[in-house]
Amino acid sequence: MTHGDDQGLIFPHRLAHIQAVIVPILKTEAENGPVMETVNRVFAELKAAGIRVKLDDRTEVTPGFKFNDWEMRGVPLRIEIGPKDVEKGSVALARRDKPGREGKSFVPQAGLAAAVADLLTDIQKSLLEKATAFRDSHIFEPKDYDELTEVVQKGWAYSWWCESVECETKVKEDTKATTRCIPIDQPEGHGKCIVCGKDAKHKVYFAKSY
Ligand SMILES: [Zn+2]
Repeated sequence: MTHGDDQGLIFPHRLAHIQAVIVPILKTEAENGPVMETVNRVFAELKAAGIRVKLDDRTEVTPGFKFNDWEMRGVPLRIEIGPKDVEKGSVALARRDKPGREGKSFVPQAGLAAAVADLLTDIQKSLLEKATAFRDSHIFEPKDYDELTEVVQKGWAYSWWCESVECETKVKEDTKATTRCIPIDQPEGHGKCIVCGKDAKHKVYFAKSY
């Protein structure tokens, strides 16, 4: 849910049921034989290397349809193999987390399994960095209750809370936000509850759930 975009899901590869999908680009009868030979060989090599790879050999839909279909389902990496790739001994790789030209690269068929494994690791790292940056940019430390009611409309409020049901209920009634998490790492000492001003032992996150 954190990683998705307007095109649909994006799965980190450690979670992904399918980590890479191979889409053959078929054009003419004469070229199809060599393309499918390469496709089948690459598929077998990746599978043998422990990559959860899927071959999309549907003939009733276009490559473009397949691209959109697998993007929506969040498969982290697409491998395109067409007549030009057969000629050059390469494949085209398209990362799900970077749409369009930015996420596209051409790599040799030799050593492909290692290149794919590296790229999957890189995708995972980049998704985590993006999600962490997004999270950190949405954490606020309001100075008073008024500010808390504002910041929970756009992110998390990190504030002292006295742990009383009354204070949490007030926040919920005023803003629809509730306490989401009491972090294990707590600042030294005590503070004052952002709602009632009484002593508070813990700093917690208030936010709305979706
Ligand atoms: Zn309180």
